[in-house]
Amino acid sequence: MLPTEPIGSIPRPAALIEGVQGFRAGRISQPELTALYDAAVQDTIRRLEATGSPVITDGEQAKHSFATYSIHGLENLSPDGVPISFADGHIRNLPRLTGGPFRYKTPADVYLEIAQRYAQVPLKQAVVSASALSLLYPQGGLRGYSREEYLDALIDEQEGEIRRCLKKGAHVVQMDFTEGRLSIKLDPTRRLLRSFIDLNNLVLERFSAEERKRIGVHTCPGADRHSTHSADVDYAELLPSLFELQATSFYVQLASEPHRQRVLKLIREHAKATQRIFVGVIDPLDPRVETAEEIRDRVLEAAEYIPPDRLGTTDDCGFAPFSDDTSRTRGTAFDKIRARVAGTALASTVLGVD
Ligand SMILES: [Zn+2]
Repeated sequence: MLPTEPIGSIPRPAALIEGVQGFRAGRISQPELTALYDAAVQDTIRRLEATGSPVITDGEQAKHSFATYSIHGLENLSPDGVPISFADGHIRNLPRLTGGPFRYKTPADVYLEIAQRYAQVPLKQAVVSASALSLLYPQGGLRGYSREEYLDALIDEQEGEIRRCLKKGAHVVQMDFTEGRLSIKLDPTRRLLRSFIDLNNLVLERFSAEERKRIGVHTCPGADRHSTHSADVDYAELLPSLFELQATSFYVQLASEPHRQRVLKLIREHAKATQRIFVGVIDPLDPRVETAEEIRDRVLEAAEYIPPDRLGTTDDCGFAPFSDDTSRTRGTAFDKIRARVAGTALASTVLGVD
């Protein structure tokens, strides 16, 4: 069967969301909160395995968000950093660094280890890109801690994080690069995109070609509440640069694109022969659960542009990249993943891939 993988996040159970609020208000203790996280991870893994997905995640149940999990709780951050504006008008702010030195507090391999206690099937681990975290450094600079010092520390932290995930047995490490498409909106000259690609390649180039076979990159226009931050940016602006990243697997939002064939043509033109493309066949923002036949047809459409030995399927994005996002239900997420697995199996049969 063609490979099929989730992106990462699953909506958190109501008990956990209430628990996090309770902990912040001092109503529950740290051990009680940890028990809630553990229960959520365990339940999510059990239900993901029940979908038949050959690769799963921990649903990012204990992550504060896909972008801030490693730095949440650091003392040298303030909440008023770079704003990310979504199409429906809501804004998420990245934190802002207030001083050096910079170290991760909870790198991704900590989450991986917890998930490994419960998972029976291979686990993938998502990590935030260095380019996203580069935005933490304030425009005006920091006294006694230069931007260069910060970026050096950031690259070291991310290399260590990815290396430990690989060593501990992650099936694949996926770098979340949602800010790639967004960067074109923030800077239409694409200089910001160029700097993001270069920075992420500084991390990726620290790994051998063999190690990079287990490293992927996810691109999407964001998914929070019912909205995206950069779906209006033309993929043609992003894709040629995206495939310059020194990774092997690319997890590309596609189901929600209005002109999929145009995007597939761009992928065919720009992806390298050594790169595998996991096309998004599920739209997490659409509350309707796709049918297996719809998925099958989307995969077959993609196979007209990407040879089956370089093709895989995924969801367009996580189902709740921010932990407090309750706009989708857990049940819908699992149903959609089950449809992705079933539809990918149908397409694999048609394509003669087994
Ligand atoms: Zn995404």
